[in-house]
Amino acid sequence: VEVDQRRVTSNACALELAGAQYVDVARGALSDPAAIVVTGGRIAEVRALEQPSGDHADVTVDVSGLYLCPGLIDMHVHLCHESRAHRDVAFSHVEPSQISAHRAVQNLSEAMLHGVCLVRDVGGRDESLRDLSSHILSGRLALPEIEMAGAPFCVAGGHGHEFGQTVSGTDLSRTMAEHAAAGHTWVKVMNGPELWDPADLSRLCDAAHEHQLKVAVHAFADAGVWPAILGNADTVEHCLASSPEMAAAAASAETYFVPTAFAALTSLATSYATHLSRQEQVYLEEWLKYLETSREPHQIAGLPILIGTDAGCAPCQPQDVVGEMLQLQTWGFSAVDILDGATRRAASVLGRAEDFGEIAVGRYASVILTRDNPLETLATLCRPELILLKGIPVLDRIGACLA
Ligand SMILES: [Zn+2]
Repeated sequence: VEVDQRRVTSNACALELAGAQYVDVARGALSDPAAIVVTGGRIAEVRALEQPSGDHADVTVDVSGLYLCPGLIDMHVHLCHESRAHRDVAFSHVEPSQISAHRAVQNLSEAMLHGVCLVRDVGGRDESLRDLSSHILSGRLALPEIEMAGAPFCVAGGHGHEFGQTVSGTDLSRTMAEHAAAGHTWVKVMNGPELWDPADLSRLCDAAHEHQLKVAVHAFADAGVWPAILGNADTVEHCLASSPEMAAAAASAETYFVPTAFAALTSLATSYATHLSRQEQVYLEEWLKYLETSREPHQIAGLPILIGTDAGCAPCQPQDVVGEMLQLQTWGFSAVDILDGATRRAASVLGRAEDFGEIAVGRYASVILTRDNPLETLATLCRPELILLKGIPVLDRIGACLA
């Protein structure tokens, strides 16, 4: 609250974006040409273009004929990891936390320039991210905000243990209390290939929820996904509902899916896969097959999807956010559902709907201006004309000249 008041007083110059139609994700439709007034980093007014303005704008930019989309939310990133670790970029899970912080700044900068305004980090380093996040929240750094899960909870010696932690069943409540007190809002659990005992996983979810933490479970086969849904995990990562029964269970548990489909495909690109062992390649091939066979039951059930890149986990990059959206469209999901999953739905799952996810009064003015209608041509998001992050112009290809 303190930060927002400071922003309002220090950034009083009102900007009006006039004439664009915006993606109204709540209605799943395009608005009429509108005037959007931005003050103090937030949207102060949204009105039909012909209506007289209540507020006086200091600067008006004519964006008629263009389109506005809410800033994107990437639900699955690893900011402290290195997207190009398979190239000649030296990366280690035990490097000094200062280097991890530099990587996080780079990853966030790249995400920002591709329209991302908020990320959920599902496997990062506490010290690096907590410090960086505090500078972003205080307004010292203009970068996307971070919701943090910290180091993932792993089966001893299992997938992710290089950067994860293990938990002793006896002290779960204290572990979760400490996790929340350290600034995390999420708990990440790795459930595959090595699997948790389902009862242990369920206890972990309950303990997290008792401390107002949400739970994201990494899983890419039925054996990993089912216990997550039955344990009331909030999201499952890297998958879609593989059967009508699973879709129904997920709907009633309010478990959302973050398929990271583009990550599955790009991880099998020859230039990356040649770095892997045969066993790792087999896992990736099985995972892609699982996703491909799950999309039909998922779609028939009408379940939503959330957008995640796995950026940082090589070879996935922050810019893949639009690639993920395009991949899901290729797989038959509608542009409306994809855009909702990348904005309003994600903000709601993150508990951040008051700040993010829609072009509406009171939300942060984090918006993407595009040449074409994103509801008709999602790929227009690959080449934004203008990006505002909390009202700050961070990319300008239209010569708006907003200093
Ligand atoms: Zn991941």
